[in-house]
Amino acid sequence: MSELSGRVALVMGGSRGIGAEIARTLARNGAAVGFTYHSAADQAHGLEEEIRAHGGHALGIQADSADPEAVRAAIETTVARFGRFDILVNNAGVFPSGPLDEVTLEDVDRTLGIHVRGAFVAAQTAARHMTDYGRIINIGSCLAERLPGPGMTLYAMSKSALKGLTKGLARDLGPRGITAVVVDPGPTDTDMNPADGAAADFLRQFIAVGHYGHAQDIAGMVAYLAGPGGRHVSGGTIAVDGGFAA
Ligand code: NDP
Repeated sequence: MSELSGRVALVMGGSRGIGAEIARTLARNGAAVGFTYHSAADQAHGLEEEIRAHGGHALGIQADSADPEAVRAAIETTVARFGRFDILVNNAGVFPSGPLDEVTLEDVDRTLGIHVRGAFVAAQTAARHMTDYGRIINIGSCLAERLPGPGMTLYAMSKSALKGLTKGLARDLGPRGITAVVVDPGPTDTDMNPADGAAADFLRQFIAVGHYGHAQDIAGMVAYLAGPGGRHVSGGTIAVDGGFAA
């Protein structure tokens, strides 16, 4: 399948987990793919080599999503390397958790810096480069729809902000043919939330289908939305959560 041939994508936070699988899937579908990482340089280089070994085009870029200049530079670097910009996936994420009383202002600023300001700056910058095609796909969380326990207030707040961001982008950019959408993963087996981790049994009881998702479940939806199938999907949220929020 090569329905993304000629398209250029950038996955923010693409060195591991869901983001890496999104980068692989977009490349397999024909897109040239840039992806950022924060600290996992070895995994980023490994992914670059893997995509290139399969005949694809990949570029790993070190960029802290909490640093607006680094976010802007990542987009400019992608455009300079591949010549255009079509698809932005805001996936970079962290999972702050713990008692409400112990959350610091530094935790708040860091989390909002990555999840919200980073996504805003990336979308704003990317839109300047989009021409005849544009997709902005923001990776949210099922915990923005249903929060089944304590200790996740900051995370849920930050992911909820993506819904407002996405509605605004849909309105601001729709007239140019650019769509914006949130994809809400449910519990998905990655380093952030291993299917055999400490929280897994608690979370699993809320998943209607009874099991964790794989990164491929999210990547498949993102690839669909990034392609022609996503042309009329804008402003809303698609859950890929096994029924977690049902
Ligand atoms: P992982 O922890 O496995 O991977 C996180 C990715 O984000 C890595 O590539 C990491 O880079 C990157 N990243 C983290 N912080 C930054 C930063 N400051 N700047 C740039 N990149 C950064 O997480 P998942 O794959 O599980 O999560 C991906 C997204 O999906 C996140 O937004 C998460 O909130 C969301 N999500 C995940 C769920 C799950 O159950 N797994 C459920 C719902 C939502 P590096 O390797 O360099 O650290």
